[in-house]
Amino acid sequence: MNYEIVIGLETHVELDTKSKIFCSCGGHSSPKEANDCVCPACSGMPGMLPIMNKRVVELAVTAGLMLNCEISRYTTFDKKNYYYPDLPCAYQITQLNHPICRNGLVTVKTSSGSRDIRIKQIHMEEDAGKLVHDGKFSFVDFNRTSVPLIEIVTQPDFRSAEEVLAYLNKLKSMFRSGGISECEEGAMRCDVNISVRPEGSSEFGVRTEIKNMSSFEAIERAIRYEAQRHIDALEFETEELVQETRRFDDVSGKTMAMRNKETEADYRYFPDANLMPIIIDDEWLEQIKAAKPVEIDEKAEAYREAGISEKEIEMLIHNHKLCKLLDDVTSMGCEAKDVAVWILTDCAGVLRKDGKTLAELNVTAEKLAAIIKMVNAGTINRNAGKKILIAVVENDVDPVAYCKAQGLDKKFDQSAVEAVIERVIADNSRAVEDYKNGKEKAKQALFGACMKELRGAGDPAVIKELLEEKLRNC
Ligand code: ADP
Ligand code: MG
Ligand code: ZN
Repeated sequence: MNYEIVIGLETHVELDTKSKIFCSCGGHSSPKEANDCVCPACSGMPGMLPIMNKRVVELAVTAGLMLNCEISRYTTFDKKNYYYPDLPCAYQITQLNHPICRNGLVTVKTSSGSRDIRIKQIHMEEDAGKLVHDGKFSFVDFNRTSVPLIEIVTQPDFRSAEEVLAYLNKLKSMFRSGGISECEEGAMRCDVNISVRPEGSSEFGVRTEIKNMSSFEAIERAIRYEAQRHIDALEFETEELVQETRRFDDVSGKTMAMRNKETEADYRYFPDANLMPIIIDDEWLEQIKAAKPVEIDEKAEAYREAGISEKEIEMLIHNHKLCKLLDDVTSMGCEAKDVAVWILTDCAGVLRKDGKTLAELNVTAEKLAAIIKMVNAGTINRNAGKKILIAVVENDVDPVAYCKAQGLDKKFDQSAVEAVIERVIADNSRAVEDYKNGKEKAKQALFGACMKELRGAGDPAVIKELLEEKLRNC
Protein backbone atom coordinates (compact mmCIF):
# COMPACT_ATOMS: atom_id res chain seq x y z
CA MET A 1 0.00 0.00 0.00
CA ASN A 2 1.13 3.57 -0.58
CA TYR A 3 1.16 5.94 2.35
CA GLU A 4 0.91 9.68 2.58
CA ILE A 5 3.02 11.53 5.15
CA VAL A 6 1.26 14.27 7.12
CA ILE A 7 3.28 16.85 9.05
CA GLY A 8 2.46 19.89 11.18
CA LEU A 9 5.13 22.16 12.63
CA GLU A 10 5.51 24.22 15.77
CA THR A 11 8.44 26.57 15.19
CA HIS A 12 10.00 28.66 17.97
CA VAL A 13 11.93 31.74 16.91
CA GLU A 14 14.00 33.91 19.26
CA LEU A 15 13.26 37.57 18.53
CA ASP A 16 16.05 40.08 17.96
CA THR A 17 15.06 42.51 20.70
CA LYS A 18 17.52 44.52 22.76
CA SER A 19 16.01 43.25 26.00
CA LYS A 20 14.10 40.25 27.30
CA ILE A 21 10.32 39.96 27.11
CA PHE A 22 9.43 40.85 30.72
CA CYS A 23 12.52 42.56 32.19
CA SER A 24 15.31 44.86 31.03
CA CYS A 25 18.06 42.22 30.87
CA GLY A 26 19.82 42.04 27.49
CA GLY A 27 18.16 39.92 24.79
CA HIS A 28 19.42 36.81 23.08
CA SER A 29 22.51 38.30 21.44
CA SER A 30 23.78 40.03 24.61
CA PRO A 31 25.31 37.40 26.90
CA LYS A 32 28.98 36.55 26.73
CA GLU A 33 29.37 34.37 29.85
CA ALA A 34 26.85 32.08 31.56
CA ASN A 35 24.36 34.01 33.73
CA ASP A 36 25.57 37.40 32.44
CA CYS A 37 22.06 38.64 31.73
CA VAL A 38 20.00 37.70 34.74
CA CYS A 39 17.95 39.76 37.23
CA PRO A 40 15.55 38.92 40.05
CA ALA A 41 12.60 38.92 37.61
CA CYS A 42 13.95 36.48 35.02
CA SER A 43 15.45 34.21 37.65
CA GLY A 44 12.07 33.82 39.33
CA MET A 45 12.63 35.56 42.66
CA PRO A 46 9.47 35.78 44.78
CA GLY A 47 7.41 38.92 44.33
CA MET A 48 8.91 40.06 41.03
CA LEU A 49 6.47 41.18 38.36
CA PRO A 50 6.71 40.97 34.57
CA ILE A 51 6.70 44.17 32.49
CA MET A 52 5.77 43.69 28.85
CA ASN A 53 8.32 44.61 26.16
CA LYS A 54 6.38 46.54 23.51
CA ARG A 55 8.84 45.65 20.76
CA VAL A 56 7.95 41.94 21.14
CA VAL A 57 4.34 42.71 20.21
CA GLU A 58 5.48 44.72 17.19
CA LEU A 59 7.78 41.99 15.91
CA ALA A 60 5.14 39.28 16.46
CA VAL A 61 2.58 41.36 14.54
CA THR A 62 5.11 41.98 11.77
CA ALA A 63 5.71 38.22 11.51
CA GLY A 64 1.94 37.69 11.40
CA LEU A 65 1.55 40.23 8.60
CA MET A 66 4.31 38.53 6.63
CA LEU A 67 2.50 35.20 7.03
CA ASN A 68 -0.87 36.69 6.02
CA CYS A 69 -2.44 36.22 9.46
CA GLU A 70 -5.38 37.91 11.13
CA ILE A 71 -4.01 40.12 13.88
CA SER A 72 -5.84 39.88 17.21
CA ARG A 73 -6.76 43.27 18.58
CA TYR A 74 -7.07 41.81 22.07
CA THR A 75 -4.34 39.47 23.21
CA THR A 76 -3.57 37.98 26.63
CA PHE A 77 -0.97 35.87 28.42
CA ASP A 78 -1.41 32.62 30.32
CA LYS A 79 0.79 30.65 32.70
CA LYS A 80 1.75 27.14 31.65
CA ASN A 81 2.81 25.20 34.72
CA TYR A 82 5.50 22.61 34.78
CA TYR A 83 8.59 22.11 36.83
CA TYR A 84 11.98 21.88 35.23
CA PRO A 85 15.26 23.26 36.64
CA ASP A 86 15.79 25.70 33.77
CA LEU A 87 12.36 27.28 34.34
CA PRO A 88 12.84 29.15 37.63
CA CYS A 89 9.21 30.23 38.09
CA ALA A 90 7.96 26.66 37.51
CA TYR A 91 5.66 28.14 34.90
CA GLN A 92 6.20 29.59 31.46
CA ILE A 93 4.39 32.76 30.42
CA THR A 94 2.80 31.99 27.05
CA GLN A 95 -0.47 32.56 25.20
CA LEU A 96 -3.27 30.00 25.13
CA ASN A 97 -6.64 31.70 24.89
CA HIS A 98 -5.97 34.82 22.87
CA PRO A 99 -2.84 34.40 20.74
CA ILE A 100 -1.56 37.44 18.86
CA CYS A 101 -2.13 36.09 15.32
CA ARG A 102 -4.35 33.45 13.70
CA ASN A 103 -5.31 31.97 10.35
CA GLY A 104 -2.34 32.74 8.15
CA LEU A 105 -1.19 31.23 4.90
CA VAL A 106 2.18 30.71 3.30
CA THR A 107 2.96 29.06 -0.02
CA VAL A 108 5.99 26.80 -0.34
CA LYS A 109 7.59 25.72 -3.60
CA THR A 110 9.39 22.42 -4.10
CA SER A 111 10.46 20.33 -7.08
CA SER A 112 7.03 18.69 -7.01
CA GLY A 113 5.07 21.96 -7.18
CA SER A 114 3.73 24.44 -4.68
CA ARG A 115 1.54 23.92 -1.62
CA ASP A 116 -0.37 26.27 0.65
CA ILE A 117 0.47 25.81 4.30
CA ARG A 118 -2.13 27.21 6.69
CA ILE A 119 -0.83 28.91 9.82
CA LYS A 120 -3.05 28.03 12.75
CA GLN A 121 -1.64 30.67 15.06
CA ILE A 122 1.37 32.63 16.24
CA HIS A 123 1.81 33.25 19.93
CA MET A 124 4.34 35.10 22.07
CA GLU A 125 6.11 33.41 24.97
CA GLU A 126 9.29 33.42 27.02
CA ASP A 127 12.13 30.98 26.46
CA ALA A 128 13.46 28.70 29.18
CA GLY A 129 17.07 28.64 30.39
CA LYS A 130 19.71 26.10 29.45
CA LEU A 131 21.01 23.14 31.38
CA VAL A 132 24.67 22.36 30.94
CA HIS A 133 25.73 18.84 31.87
CA ASP A 134 29.34 18.33 32.76
CA GLY A 135 30.09 14.75 33.84
CA LYS A 136 29.02 14.55 37.46
CA PHE A 137 27.36 17.95 37.67
CA SER A 138 24.57 19.83 35.96
CA PHE A 139 24.60 23.61 35.72
CA VAL A 140 21.86 26.02 34.84
CA ASP A 141 22.37 29.13 32.73
CA PHE A 142 19.50 31.64 33.00
CA ASN A 143 20.69 33.92 30.17
CA ARG A 144 18.00 32.49 27.92
CA THR A 145 15.12 32.57 30.43
CA SER A 146 12.62 35.19 29.33
CA VAL A 147 14.21 35.78 25.95
CA PRO A 148 11.20 36.51 23.72
CA LEU A 149 9.98 33.82 21.36
CA ILE A 150 7.24 33.58 18.84
CA GLU A 151 5.83 30.14 18.18
CA ILE A 152 4.35 29.60 14.75
CA VAL A 153 1.95 26.67 14.61
CA THR A 154 0.89 25.29 11.24
CA GLN A 155 -2.04 23.06 10.35
CA PRO A 156 -1.04 19.50 9.38
CA ASP A 157 -0.57 20.57 5.76
CA PHE A 158 2.93 19.36 4.84
CA ARG A 159 3.21 16.17 2.79
CA SER A 160 6.99 15.73 2.59
CA ALA A 161 10.28 16.57 4.29
CA GLU A 162 11.13 18.70 1.25
CA GLU A 163 8.09 20.92 1.88
CA VAL A 164 9.06 21.30 5.52
CA LEU A 165 12.55 22.46 4.58
CA ALA A 166 11.24 24.85 1.95
CA TYR A 167 8.93 26.35 4.59
CA LEU A 168 11.69 26.72 7.18
CA ASN A 169 14.02 28.33 4.66
CA LYS A 170 11.27 30.73 3.65
CA LEU A 171 10.57 31.69 7.28
CA LYS A 172 14.28 32.22 7.82
CA SER A 173 14.67 34.56 4.83
CA MET A 174 11.53 36.47 5.76
CA PHE A 175 12.48 36.89 9.40
CA ARG A 176 16.03 37.90 8.59
CA SER A 177 14.99 40.46 6.01
CA GLY A 178 12.28 41.72 8.36
CA GLY A 179 14.62 42.28 11.31
CA ILE A 180 12.54 39.82 13.34
CA SER A 181 15.31 37.32 13.96
CA GLU A 182 18.67 36.41 12.51
CA CYS A 183 17.55 32.77 12.96
CA GLU A 184 21.07 31.56 13.75
CA GLU A 185 21.46 27.92 14.61
CA GLY A 186 19.62 27.40 17.88
CA ALA A 187 17.52 30.57 17.55
CA MET A 188 14.97 28.68 15.43
CA ARG A 189 13.75 25.39 16.89
CA CYS A 190 11.04 23.06 15.69
CA ASP A 191 8.69 20.46 17.07
CA VAL A 192 7.74 18.18 14.19
CA ASN A 193 4.35 16.42 14.41
CA ILE A 194 4.08 13.53 12.05
CA SER A 195 1.60 10.82 11.05
CA VAL A 196 0.99 8.67 8.00
CA ARG A 197 -2.18 7.43 6.35
CA PRO A 198 -3.08 5.23 3.38
CA GLU A 199 -3.09 7.31 0.22
CA GLY A 200 -6.58 8.60 -0.51
CA SER A 201 -7.72 8.31 3.11
CA SER A 202 -9.34 11.38 4.59
CA GLU A 203 -8.67 10.51 8.22
CA PHE A 204 -5.45 11.31 10.01
CA GLY A 205 -3.30 8.59 11.55
CA VAL A 206 -1.83 8.52 15.05
CA ARG A 207 0.75 11.28 15.38
CA THR A 208 4.01 11.53 17.23
CA GLU A 209 5.87 14.73 18.02
CA ILE A 210 9.64 15.03 17.67
CA LYS A 211 10.75 17.77 20.02
CA ASN A 212 13.15 20.63 19.81
CA MET A 213 15.24 20.30 16.67
CA SER A 214 17.31 23.15 15.32
CA SER A 215 19.44 21.73 12.53
CA PHE A 216 17.62 21.55 9.19
CA GLU A 217 19.63 18.51 8.29
CA ALA A 218 18.55 16.69 11.46
CA ILE A 219 14.93 17.67 10.81
CA GLU A 220 15.05 16.07 7.40
CA ARG A 221 16.65 12.86 8.69
CA ALA A 222 14.23 12.66 11.61
CA ILE A 223 11.20 13.03 9.33
CA ARG A 224 12.43 10.28 7.01
CA TYR A 225 13.15 7.92 9.89
CA GLU A 226 9.91 8.61 11.74
CA ALA A 227 7.68 8.33 8.66
CA GLN A 228 9.23 4.98 7.82
CA ARG A 229 8.74 3.79 11.39
CA HIS A 230 5.03 4.67 11.14
CA ILE A 231 4.66 2.95 7.77
CA ASP A 232 6.40 -0.19 9.03
CA ALA A 233 4.19 -0.23 12.10
CA LEU A 234 1.05 -0.10 9.96
CA GLU A 235 2.24 -2.33 7.16
CA PHE A 236 4.00 -5.09 9.11
CA GLU A 237 2.48 -4.54 12.55
CA THR A 238 5.99 -4.24 14.00
CA GLU A 239 4.70 -2.17 16.90
CA GLU A 240 1.66 -0.29 18.02
CA LEU A 241 1.77 3.44 17.34
CA VAL A 242 0.87 5.64 20.28
CA GLN A 243 0.58 9.38 20.48
CA GLU A 244 3.78 10.40 22.24
CA THR A 245 6.68 12.84 22.37
CA ARG A 246 9.96 11.60 20.93
CA ARG A 247 13.45 12.89 20.52
CA PHE A 248 15.83 12.42 17.62
CA ASP A 249 19.26 11.01 18.28
CA ASP A 250 21.71 12.54 15.87
CA VAL A 251 24.26 9.74 16.20
CA SER A 252 22.04 6.71 15.59
CA GLY A 253 19.69 8.63 13.29
CA LYS A 254 16.72 7.19 15.20
CA THR A 255 13.90 8.68 17.24
CA MET A 256 13.15 7.45 20.75
CA ALA A 257 10.16 7.81 23.04
CA MET A 258 10.58 10.56 25.66
CA ARG A 259 7.20 10.69 27.33
CA ASN A 260 3.52 10.26 26.67
CA LYS A 261 1.96 13.28 25.08
CA GLU A 262 0.88 15.82 27.66
CA THR A 263 -2.61 17.16 27.33
CA GLU A 264 -3.60 20.74 27.95
CA ALA A 265 -4.90 19.75 31.40
CA ASP A 266 -1.45 18.51 32.41
CA TYR A 267 -0.19 22.07 32.29
CA ARG A 268 -2.96 23.64 34.41
CA TYR A 269 -3.00 26.73 32.22
CA PHE A 270 -4.52 29.85 33.76
CA PRO A 271 -4.59 33.52 32.80
CA ASP A 272 -1.58 35.51 33.98
CA ALA A 273 -3.14 38.19 36.16
CA ASN A 274 0.16 40.08 36.37
CA LEU A 275 -0.02 41.11 32.72
CA MET A 276 -2.78 43.33 31.38
CA PRO A 277 -4.49 42.34 28.14
CA ILE A 278 -2.81 44.09 25.22
CA ILE A 279 -5.08 46.07 22.93
CA ILE A 280 -3.80 46.70 19.44
CA ASP A 281 -5.75 49.67 18.13
CA ASP A 282 -5.99 50.87 14.53
CA GLU A 283 -3.33 53.49 14.98
CA TRP A 284 -0.73 51.10 16.38
CA LEU A 285 -1.52 48.46 13.77
CA GLU A 286 -1.11 51.06 11.00
CA GLN A 287 2.24 52.10 12.44
CA ILE A 288 3.45 48.50 12.47
CA LYS A 289 2.17 47.96 8.92
CA ALA A 290 3.96 51.09 7.72
CA ALA A 291 7.24 49.96 9.26
CA LYS A 292 6.91 46.42 7.88
CA PRO A 293 9.67 45.73 5.41
CA VAL A 294 8.67 44.83 1.88
CA GLU A 295 8.85 41.18 1.01
CA ILE A 296 12.23 40.02 -0.03
CA ASP A 297 11.31 39.03 -3.60
CA GLU A 298 9.80 42.43 -4.24
CA LYS A 299 12.83 44.13 -2.78
CA ALA A 300 15.26 42.11 -4.90
CA GLU A 301 13.24 43.06 -7.98
CA ALA A 302 13.34 46.75 -7.07
CA TYR A 303 17.12 46.58 -6.61
CA ARG A 304 17.48 44.81 -9.95
CA GLU A 305 15.50 47.60 -11.63
CA ALA A 306 17.75 50.18 -9.98
CA GLY A 307 20.71 48.53 -11.70
CA ILE A 308 22.25 46.76 -8.70
CA SER A 309 24.06 43.58 -9.75
CA GLU A 310 22.84 40.07 -8.82
CA LYS A 311 25.95 39.48 -6.74
CA GLU A 312 25.37 42.68 -4.78
CA ILE A 313 21.68 41.87 -4.31
CA GLU A 314 22.66 38.49 -2.90
CA MET A 315 24.93 40.21 -0.36
CA LEU A 316 22.31 42.79 0.61
CA ILE A 317 18.99 41.06 0.58
CA HIS A 318 19.24 38.96 3.73
CA ASN A 319 20.66 41.78 5.75
CA HIS A 320 17.90 44.17 6.66
CA LYS A 321 20.32 46.66 8.25
CA LEU A 322 22.29 47.05 5.02
CA CYS A 323 19.08 47.22 2.98
CA LYS A 324 17.76 49.92 5.27
CA LEU A 325 21.00 51.89 5.03
CA LEU A 326 20.92 51.63 1.25
CA ASP A 327 17.26 52.65 1.07
CA ASP A 328 17.78 55.58 3.44
CA VAL A 329 20.82 56.92 1.60
CA THR A 330 18.95 56.51 -1.70
CA SER A 331 15.98 58.43 -0.33
CA MET A 332 18.37 61.30 0.45
CA GLY A 333 19.00 61.77 -3.24
CA CYS A 334 21.79 59.32 -4.09
CA GLU A 335 21.65 56.63 -6.75
CA ALA A 336 20.94 53.13 -5.40
CA LYS A 337 23.48 51.55 -7.73
CA ASP A 338 26.16 53.92 -6.48
CA VAL A 339 25.24 53.50 -2.84
CA ALA A 340 25.47 49.69 -3.17
CA VAL A 341 29.09 50.03 -4.29
CA TRP A 342 29.91 52.47 -1.48
CA ILE A 343 28.50 50.03 1.08
CA LEU A 344 29.60 46.68 -0.30
CA THR A 345 33.01 47.69 -1.65
CA ASP A 346 34.17 50.81 0.16
CA CYS A 347 32.66 50.39 3.63
CA ALA A 348 33.41 46.65 3.57
CA GLY A 349 37.01 47.44 2.58
CA VAL A 350 37.55 49.86 5.48
CA LEU A 351 36.10 47.33 7.94
CA ARG A 352 38.12 44.44 6.50
CA LYS A 353 41.30 46.43 7.09
CA ASP A 354 40.38 46.50 10.80
CA GLY A 355 39.49 42.80 10.81
CA LYS A 356 35.74 43.52 10.89
CA THR A 357 32.76 42.60 8.72
CA LEU A 358 29.79 44.53 7.38
CA ALA A 359 27.77 43.22 10.33
CA GLU A 360 29.70 45.76 12.40
CA LEU A 361 29.08 48.71 10.08
CA ASN A 362 27.93 51.69 12.09
CA VAL A 363 27.66 54.56 9.61
CA THR A 364 24.52 56.67 9.61
CA ALA A 365 22.65 57.20 6.35
CA GLU A 366 23.12 60.97 6.75
CA LYS A 367 26.91 60.72 6.86
CA LEU A 368 27.22 58.27 4.00
CA ALA A 369 24.87 60.41 1.89
CA ALA A 370 26.93 63.51 2.67
CA ILE A 371 30.11 61.86 1.38
CA ILE A 372 28.49 60.49 -1.77
CA LYS A 373 26.94 63.86 -2.53
CA MET A 374 30.24 65.70 -2.21
CA VAL A 375 31.80 63.26 -4.65
CA ASN A 376 28.89 63.46 -7.09
CA ALA A 377 28.92 67.25 -6.98
CA GLY A 378 32.64 67.27 -7.81
CA THR A 379 33.49 69.03 -4.55
CA ILE A 380 35.95 66.22 -3.89
CA ASN A 381 37.19 63.28 -5.90
CA ARG A 382 36.41 59.67 -5.08
CA ASN A 383 39.77 59.20 -3.38
CA ALA A 384 39.10 62.03 -0.98
CA GLY A 385 35.63 60.53 -0.46
CA LYS A 386 37.21 57.28 0.60
CA LYS A 387 39.50 59.08 3.02
CA ILE A 388 36.53 60.75 4.63
CA LEU A 389 34.73 57.41 4.75
CA ILE A 390 37.61 55.85 6.66
CA ALA A 391 37.49 58.67 9.21
CA VAL A 392 33.70 58.30 9.51
CA VAL A 393 33.79 54.50 9.92
CA GLU A 394 36.69 54.53 12.35
CA ASN A 395 36.08 57.70 14.35
CA ASP A 396 32.54 58.72 13.48
CA VAL A 397 33.64 62.22 12.39
CA ASP A 398 31.33 64.69 10.67
CA PRO A 399 32.13 64.24 6.97
CA VAL A 400 31.68 67.84 5.85
CA ALA A 401 33.63 69.32 8.74
CA TYR A 402 36.37 66.70 8.34
CA CYS A 403 36.64 67.42 4.63
CA LYS A 404 37.12 71.15 5.31
CA ALA A 405 39.55 70.60 8.18
CA GLN A 406 41.71 68.33 6.06
CA GLY A 407 41.51 70.64 3.06
CA LEU A 408 40.23 67.81 0.89
CA ASP A 409 37.79 70.07 -0.90
CA LYS A 410 40.37 72.56 -2.15
CA LYS A 411 39.65 73.26 -5.78
CA PHE A 412 43.01 72.98 -7.51
CA ASP A 413 43.26 74.98 -10.64
CA GLN A 414 45.26 73.41 -13.42
CA SER A 415 48.25 75.69 -12.89
CA ALA A 416 48.47 74.88 -9.17
CA VAL A 417 48.44 71.16 -9.97
CA GLU A 418 51.07 71.68 -12.65
CA ALA A 419 53.27 73.62 -10.24
CA VAL A 420 53.14 70.74 -7.78
CA ILE A 421 54.04 68.23 -10.49
CA GLU A 422 56.94 70.36 -11.66
CA ARG A 423 58.23 70.67 -8.12
CA VAL A 424 58.00 66.89 -7.61
CA ILE A 425 59.90 66.31 -10.84
CA ALA A 426 62.58 68.80 -9.82
CA ASP A 427 62.95 67.29 -6.34
CA ASN A 428 63.20 63.71 -7.55
CA SER A 429 65.70 63.79 -10.37
CA ARG A 430 66.84 60.28 -9.49
CA ALA A 431 63.38 58.76 -10.02
CA VAL A 432 62.98 60.76 -13.22
CA GLU A 433 66.25 59.35 -14.45
CA ASP A 434 65.11 55.79 -13.59
CA TYR A 435 61.88 56.35 -15.44
CA LYS A 436 63.70 57.55 -18.52
CA ASN A 437 65.78 54.35 -18.34
CA GLY A 438 62.57 52.33 -18.60
CA LYS A 439 61.64 51.73 -14.95
CA GLU A 440 57.83 51.94 -14.93
CA LYS A 441 57.83 51.72 -11.14
CA ALA A 442 59.59 55.05 -10.88
CA LYS A 443 56.59 56.76 -12.48
CA GLN A 444 54.35 55.23 -9.84
CA ALA A 445 56.58 56.66 -7.12
CA LEU A 446 56.44 60.13 -8.72
CA PHE A 447 52.67 59.89 -9.03
CA GLY A 448 52.47 58.91 -5.36
CA ALA A 449 54.58 61.92 -4.40
CA CYS A 450 52.28 64.25 -6.38
CA MET A 451 49.17 62.77 -4.74
CA LYS A 452 50.74 63.20 -1.34
CA GLU A 453 51.53 66.85 -2.02
CA LEU A 454 48.00 67.40 -3.23
CA ARG A 455 46.66 65.58 -0.17
CA GLY A 456 44.36 63.39 -2.20
CA ALA A 457 42.55 66.31 -3.82
CA GLY A 458 42.37 66.71 -7.61
CA ASP A 459 41.32 64.04 -10.07
CA PRO A 460 43.91 61.21 -10.06
CA ALA A 461 43.35 60.47 -13.77
CA VAL A 462 44.05 64.09 -14.71
CA ILE A 463 47.12 64.25 -12.47
CA LYS A 464 48.48 61.08 -14.02
CA GLU A 465 48.00 62.45 -17.50
CA LEU A 466 49.69 65.76 -16.66
CA LEU A 467 52.57 63.95 -15.00
CA GLU A 468 53.14 61.73 -18.03
CA GLU A 469 53.07 64.73 -20.31
CA LYS A 470 55.61 66.61 -18.21
CA LEU A 471 57.87 63.56 -18.00
CA ARG A 472 57.81 63.23 -21.78
CA ASN A 473 58.88 66.83 -22.12
CA CYS A 474 61.61 67.03 -19.54
P1 ADP B 1 -1.82 19.98 20.67
O1 ADP B 1 -2.65 21.04 21.25
O2 ADP B 1 -2.12 18.61 21.14
O3 ADP B 1 -0.35 20.29 20.66
P2 ADP B 1 -2.40 21.02 18.10
O4 ADP B 1 -3.73 20.90 17.51
O5 ADP B 1 -1.97 22.33 18.66
O6 ADP B 1 -2.25 19.88 19.17
O7 ADP B 1 -1.36 20.57 17.04
C1 ADP B 1 -0.02 20.60 17.27
C2 ADP B 1 0.67 20.40 15.93
O8 ADP B 1 0.43 19.07 15.47
C3 ADP B 1 0.13 21.31 14.84
O9 ADP B 1 1.24 21.81 14.11
C4 ADP B 1 -0.69 20.41 13.98
O10 ADP B 1 -0.65 20.79 12.64
C5 ADP B 1 -0.01 19.07 14.16
N1 ADP B 1 -0.88 17.93 13.95
C6 ADP B 1 -2.10 17.72 14.46
N2 ADP B 1 -2.58 16.53 14.08
C7 ADP B 1 -1.65 15.93 13.29
C8 ADP B 1 -1.53 14.71 12.56
N3 ADP B 1 -2.51 13.78 12.61
N4 ADP B 1 -0.43 14.49 11.86
C9 ADP B 1 0.57 15.37 11.84
N5 ADP B 1 0.53 16.55 12.48
C10 ADP B 1 -0.55 16.84 13.21
MG1 MG C 1 1.03 22.12 20.74
ZN1 ZN D 1 16.04 39.81 33.78
